[in-house]
Amino acid sequence: MKTNSIYLDFNATTPLWPNVQDTLHRAMGYFGNPSSIHAWGRQAQGMIEGAREKIAQAVNVHPSQVIFTSSGTEANNLVLQTYPDEAIISSTVEHVSVLHCSEKATRMPVDQNGLVRPEQVEKLLRHQKASLLSLMLANNETGVIQPLSEIAKIAHAHGCRLHTDAVQAFGKIPVDFQELDVDYLSLSAHKIGGPKGIGALIIRDDAPLTSFMKGGGQERRRRAGTENFLGILGFAAAVEEISRFDWHKVLDMRVLLEKQLKELGITIVAENTTRLPNTISAIYPSLSSEMLVMQYDLSGIAISAGSACSSGKVQKSHVLSAMGQDTDSAIRISLGWTTTEQDIETFVSVTKQLLNNPVQEAA
Ligand code: PLP
Repeated sequence: MKTNSIYLDFNATTPLWPNVQDTLHRAMGYFGNPSSIHAWGRQAQGMIEGAREKIAQAVNVHPSQVIFTSSGTEANNLVLQTYPDEAIISSTVEHVSVLHCSEKATRMPVDQNGLVRPEQVEKLLRHQKASLLSLMLANNETGVIQPLSEIAKIAHAHGCRLHTDAVQAFGKIPVDFQELDVDYLSLSAHKIGGPKGIGALIIRDDAPLTSFMKGGGQERRRRAGTENFLGILGFAAAVEEISRFDWHKVLDMRVLLEKQLKELGITIVAENTTRLPNTISAIYPSLSSEMLVMQYDLSGIAISAGSACSSGKVQKSHVLSAMGQDTDSAIRISLGWTTTEQDIETFVSVTKQLLNNPVQEAA
């Protein structure tokens, strides 16, 4: 059943674009510290500012609103740690980097399609004083896109700041900071074909921020530490590539794959809800998530059981549980720019074999 390798785990991380690799190779030739005032330093600083402009342009903000961080996780932490837990409202389907740094926050429930309902936000804010609402733009497991602009109006009417984790949405759907009308927005390079270990926080000029990295005055005193020069340049190159990418073909492949999976008795989570063009959360009639991930892997196919888990263990999805789906037979299939129609065909034929000859799971 061994096939050629097929990567369908783009929401975990992505291959580097060739142009990003070239940019990284070239960037290795520069070593100046961007904080140094001599020519080497000024050159590095100039290159960082060029990269900042590209990222700012992609989300429609002024470059001074872009703060480079070590990851999407750090961007989320920066915002959430600025506010006391009790003053934060978020949702039950957030990424762990939001959930784990606001443990006492109030969590908005989601409906069976994974959506936070604007009228519930309104109701909650009428009864509870909150300073920050943190709501992801698109979910990493299901791809469900939240009605954020509508929620922004409600939050601001109640004097509440709005943060969105746009790590999965950015590059796949339009992400315009002004149009979304948010105060903070988190990004990560490795989800869009850039290097790992570099992210950004986009911030409204008047929004408060408490920096937990103390040290030098980098990033306008908002994030100390010598900048990740290679990462920043690679991030900007990835932004250029992803902005040019046409997702229509990926969406067509996703729709075709979903149709074929349904014919095999597999359920597509939030099937009729607006979702990212590349993400499928699928519940199988038999076999556990863990077994499915292993069996596909043996067939040379990379998928995941929900989010990428740093412990390497498959855990029940908190996202699906929050949507009322009590299952341990779900997997996430996430497509990207290397995905071909042949990959989809192979995936379907391997799926048929798996369902017809299920491997016995240990009791
Ligand atoms: N937020 C979401 C929605 C994610 O999917 C991820 C990564 O999986 C993160 C945040 C964390 O980003 P990073 O891997 O850059 O820390």
